[in-house]
Amino acid sequence: MSDRPQAGADATLAERMTGASPNLASESVELLQSLIQFNTVNPPGNERPAQEHLAHHLTAAGFACELLGAEPDRPNLVARLRGERDGPTLCYLGHVDTVLADPAEWSSAHDPWSGDVAEGYVWGRGALDMKSQVAAEIAAAASLARSGWRPARGELLIVAVVDEETGGSLGAEWITREHPDAVRCDMLVNEGAGCVFEYGGARRYGVCCAEKGVFRFTLTTDGVAGHASMPSMGVNALLKMAPLLQRLGERRPAYELTAEPRAFLAAIGEDPDDPVGSVARLRAADERLATMFEPMLGVTFAPTRISASEKINVIPSRAVLKVDCRVPPGLGEAQVRRALAEVMDPHPPDEADSHPTFQIEFTERVVGNRSPMASPLMDAISEWVSERDPGARTAPTILPGFTDSRHFRAAFSDCVAYGFFPQRHQSLPETAPLIHGADERIDVRDLAFATEFFRDLALRMLG
Ligand SMILES: [Zn+2]
Repeated sequence: MSDRPQAGADATLAERMTGASPNLASESVELLQSLIQFNTVNPPGNERPAQEHLAHHLTAAGFACELLGAEPDRPNLVARLRGERDGPTLCYLGHVDTVLADPAEWSSAHDPWSGDVAEGYVWGRGALDMKSQVAAEIAAAASLARSGWRPARGELLIVAVVDEETGGSLGAEWITREHPDAVRCDMLVNEGAGCVFEYGGARRYGVCCAEKGVFRFTLTTDGVAGHASMPSMGVNALLKMAPLLQRLGERRPAYELTAEPRAFLAAIGEDPDDPVGSVARLRAADERLATMFEPMLGVTFAPTRISASEKINVIPSRAVLKVDCRVPPGLGEAQVRRALAEVMDPHPPDEADSHPTFQIEFTERVVGNRSPMASPLMDAISEWVSERDPGARTAPTILPGFTDSRHFRAAFSDCVAYGFFPQRHQSLPETAPLIHGADERIDVRDLAFATEFFRDLALRMLG
């Protein structure tokens, strides 16, 4: 089945795509401002007023809207625009909750819930993650519906969920489990990538095709308790941890490239068979790019918490380190164990005598998730990028973290889900530090750019 428009429709399609309403950009800016002004910090979320506002906007445009929630104050919004014939469902997904914000850390001129437009940006918590994308998706969809457009076949589905920032148990996880028929879709666009970055003299837009899994574990060393006034009386488990912690800081396991990072390296003009050299060149070009992209290339370990003796005067008989471990989709526990052994191996070998023993126990085992990198949806995104930013190309990426896409991929095995929100002015290195940070803001030109993308994509995929 082709998801591309018929050849005969090209002329009108082109006209419609270049004839985007001049009001389209201001509609998405105004929607974003109003969304930011609804405080949806999660917990507690309290997303209902924001969701009702969006439902009103979409209903007025011609969408059929439902609010479905596990809790009255936290409904998810499902809005659909049916086509004339059966066909694929294209879903634009977003979440309306945000992480917290401390106004004291923000520039005094811009409160986190102001939604101010100043200096070319819309300011506020959620301006990037991800009320901007929700506003762009909904402004694009509403403008299409108001113009009288209906999909030639299939349907356009808008899903704005709650509760993403704390895991989605009331949002994407809940709605895909409790109301699968309401949100079933063939193609899905969500958060996860899309900011432009420059490398090797070329502009690239990431398209997030996969998300790493989470294999968190505790690492324990054992000793013998004793009185802390005589340090050599017992065996201090905390001191046995020290060289292990040092190895976790100084070493990393060998890269283990799955299909996505191989395609990514090829797309940025690097050699997938030389990941070490590729990362070194990335780092030399822009340290920030290496920091963001290196985790795609294999298993990572980040020790984040440690505990030992309950009492200051007792030599600890046990020390427990918690390690946050992220694993590319396609890899699992066996690769984690091998990678850990590689990092912990004493070398040079004559250190072996002092090699402390330890035990590990997994506390979370969630495998990564992915969609095929090749699809009609990817073709449409790539074509749009090269048309709208000549010379630029897309590159498939893996998110080191995860998004609500995982719930949709799990619920609907044929659903092709990508993370994509195109930004051509505010680049990836400029954008990334603002997410969950102070002075979160989006370039208004990028909001317009992305809104046009969501408008054009619906026309391309649904006719
Ligand atoms: Zn988000």
